[in-house]
Amino acid sequence: MTYELPDLPYDYDALEPHIDQRIMELHHDGHHQSYVDSANDAREQLEEMRSDGEYDDIKAVKRQLAFNLSGHANHSIFWENMDPDGGGEPGGAVADAIEDAFDSVDTFMEEFSEAAKAVEGAGWAMLFYDPLADELIIGQMESQHLLAHQNTTPILALDVWEHAYYLQYENNRGEYVDAWWDVVNWDDIDERYEAAIA
Ligand code: MN
Repeated sequence: MTYELPDLPYDYDALEPHIDQRIMELHHDGHHQSYVDSANDAREQLEEMRSDGEYDDIKAVKRQLAFNLSGHANHSIFWENMDPDGGGEPGGAVADAIEDAFDSVDTFMEEFSEAAKAVEGAGWAMLFYDPLADELIIGQMESQHLLAHQNTTPILALDVWEHAYYLQYENNRGEYVDAWWDVVNWDDIDERYEAAIA
């Protein structure tokens, strides 16, 4: 079994003017590909360990797998969470769930944006379905996987690593976050929510 880089569901320039073509090319073909390759490399190393019975490097390889598999998973959600015809307001069951959890869509968007802008260093803001509370929660993810909530399902992911915006927005992460709402694919988020609660 090997992980594979998924195609973008739209052209590289489709999210302009909100996200530049060159950012999307480097981000998808460069960064996401490297997470896929390194996750595959970690799995190959684990197979070798099992066949050789030598586990001296197991800590480093497990770390490599956790970071890179999380990077692959996060970006696979992130691309589908965006659409050239996105933006606007959520609909469907997820809209009700957002209002239940955050009182209003506006309050949700404010908390999510503030979480994204305040991520320390490289990371993500994410909206998760938490089955223990049967409710949506917003989390900050440092790196690709630190501060994750176990056993929750991510349904919306916003990459705030500098590679996601620096070529266009330079050090203005807040402008990138604000512009990103105009390409959010609410239909995809509703589908992910429906699948998570099923
Ligand atoms: Mn990224």
